[in-house]
Amino acid sequence: MKYILVTGGVISGIGKGVIASSIGTLLKSYALRVTAIKIDPYINIDAGTFSPYEHGEVYVLDDGGEVDLDLGNYERFLDVTLHKDNNITSGKIYQHVIERERRGDYLGKTVQIVPHLTNAVQDWVERVAAVPVDNTNKEPEVCVIELGGTIGDIEGMPFVEAFRQFIRRVGGHNFCNVHVSLVPHPKTTGELKTKPTQVSVRELNRLGLIPDLIICRSERQINEEVREKISNFCNVLPEHVICIHDRSSIYRVPLALEEQGLAKYFAERLRIQLPTIHTRKLMSKWRDLADRHDNMTKEVNIALVGKYTRLQDSYASVVKALQHSALHIHHRLNLTYIDAESLEPESKVKSPIQYYEAWQELCKAEGVIVPGGFGPRGVDGMVLAIEWARVNKKPFLGVCLGMQCAVIEFARNVLNWTDANSTEVDDKTSRPVIIDMPEHHGGDMGGTMRVGLRTTNFKSGHPSTLKLLYGDVASVDERHRHRYEVNPDFVADFSAKGLHFVGQDIEGKRMEVMELEDQPYFVGVQYHPEYLSRPLKPSPPYLGLLLATSNKLTQYLARGCRLTPRNRSDNESSDDDDTDDFNVIYQSVNLVANGSAGADKPLVEEK
Ligand code: GLN
Repeated sequence: MKYILVTGGVISGIGKGVIASSIGTLLKSYALRVTAIKIDPYINIDAGTFSPYEHGEVYVLDDGGEVDLDLGNYERFLDVTLHKDNNITSGKIYQHVIERERRGDYLGKTVQIVPHLTNAVQDWVERVAAVPVDNTNKEPEVCVIELGGTIGDIEGMPFVEAFRQFIRRVGGHNFCNVHVSLVPHPKTTGELKTKPTQVSVRELNRLGLIPDLIICRSERQINEEVREKISNFCNVLPEHVICIHDRSSIYRVPLALEEQGLAKYFAERLRIQLPTIHTRKLMSKWRDLADRHDNMTKEVNIALVGKYTRLQDSYASVVKALQHSALHIHHRLNLTYIDAESLEPESKVKSPIQYYEAWQELCKAEGVIVPGGFGPRGVDGMVLAIEWARVNKKPFLGVCLGMQCAVIEFARNVLNWTDANSTEVDDKTSRPVIIDMPEHHGGDMGGTMRVGLRTTNFKSGHPSTLKLLYGDVASVDERHRHRYEVNPDFVADFSAKGLHFVGQDIEGKRMEVMELEDQPYFVGVQYHPEYLSRPLKPSPPYLGLLLATSNKLTQYLARGCRLTPRNRSDNESSDDDDTDDFNVIYQSVNLVANGSAGADKPLVEEK
C-alpha cells in the first residue's frame, strides 16, 4: 500500500480536497486502484449532527455513514464507494480508544495521546486503506489521506504525530507528504507572497514531517523566481514545487497535475511501476469534460429554492449533480439560489425588496429544483415555488423535502385540503400528508433516520419518465436520509387526480418516486440521487430536469435515452462509452515495492 498524505497550510478552503482527489484520479488513470481517507480533527463523531451552515452539506454514503462533504469529492473523482470508516474524526478515534480502555485492553496502563491514540490512528488508516472500494473488489494499491484543517491547528496535532510515526511503520518509500499551501497575491504589493507557505512548512517540519511536494495554490501562475524561493526556504527541489493556479473548472486539476509530471514523480518516489502501454482513456475523458465545460454556448436557467441558500456548500452534491447533467447535454448551468422564506407572504411586509427579488428570480427560471432540508422554516415558500412551477408547467424536481413539499402543494391546491401539511411542520394538521415513519418513531425525542442505500421498485405496468431515464430498469438503489414519508392513506386520493407514486420501497409501503401527469417533467424523489451522480455518469432524475428544461427530454426518451448527435461531443461515439472500462484495458499493474448503520443519529435541526 502506498500512502499519500495531503496536508494544508495557511488557510483552509483553498481546494485541498480537490487536489487530493485529483492526485487520486491521476493515479487511477494509470490503472492503480485508489482509495481515500478524510481526517476531520473535530470532536464530533461524524457530520450527522451538523447544521448545513456549519460545514456545508452532510454527505451520505451507501452504508449510511453521514460524513464530511469532501468524501463526495473522492467518490465523484475516483468513482468509488467509500465507507463510514473512510472518514476519521477525533471523536471517532477517542471513542474507539476509550472503549478499549473500558474493556481493559490496555492492561492497566496509563492511556495517552502518544502512543495509544496515535497508534489507533495508524491502525485505523492501515485497516481502512485495505478495504476494496470499487467493483474489482480488490484491495486498493494507493491510499490518499487528506488531513482536514491546516498545519498548526491544535486538533490536528495528534494526527500529524501519528503520521510522523507511520513513516517508520510502513517505510519511507511507501509514504509521501504533499503539502498544499496558499501563495497569496495581495493587491497592495502586486506580487506573489511566499512567506505564509514558508511559515506553514516550518511548522510542518517542527512537527516532524518533511513535505515531498509543495503544491502552491494561487490566483495566477507562479514564476520561476517564486518557485526558487519556496524551494530554498522550504527545502524541496524547485521541480517539487507545483503550481496549481485557478483554472476554468475543477476538471482541469488532474490534467494540470499530469502536465507537471506528477504521475512520474509518484512512480519514482513511491516505487510504483506504471504500465508501459496505456491509452489513458480516463484522462482523455477528463480532458473532454474540461473542454466541454469551457466551450458551452447555450445556458440552462435553474432556480434552486431552499432554506440554506446563505451557504452554497449546503447544497454541494445537488449543485454537482446539476452540473454533471448540464455538462452532459452541453449547456452551461446558470443556477440561481432562492431563499424559500423570501417567497412567503410575510416577507412581503418584513423585507419587501427580498420578496419581490425572490419572485422575480423564480419567474426567470426555466426549471426549478427544491432540495432536501429539515425543520419547518421555509416549507411554505417551497410549496409556493412548486405551485408556480406546476401551474406554469415548468420542469420541476423535488428531492426528499422537495418531494414532500410537492405532495403538500398538491394536497392544498388541487385536492383543496387547505391545511394539508407534514407533521414535521404541523403535527395538528387535519391532513397529515407527510408523516414520520412509525417504526422509526420510538415515542421519544430521539427518533431515527432512514439513511444509506435502499432499493426502490418501479411499479410495473405504470408509465414512468424516471424509470425510462434510469434505463427502463425494474428497480434502483439510491441513498436516503430522511425521517418523514408520504402518508400511504392518501395515496389513492393523489393518484385519482394525476399525482402518481410510481416507485416504492421493496415492501411497497414507502412512496419513493412521484410523478405528475400532463407536465413536461414534474418529479419527486424521497431519496437523494445527487450522492451517486458522477461527472461521467450524471444522475437520471437530475438529467431529466435538465433535459426537460432545455426541451430535449421527449427526443431523448424517443431515442432510447440517447442524445442527438448534435448534442454529443465530437469524440463521443455513444453515451454508453461513458462507462469506466479502463480496468479492462490494463490487465496488470505491478507494484515494485514490497508489500504490494449510522441509522440511529439524533437529528439536529438547523437554527
Ligand atoms: N425533513 C424531511 C425528513 O426528515 C426531509 C429530509 C431531507 O430532505 N433530507 O423526512
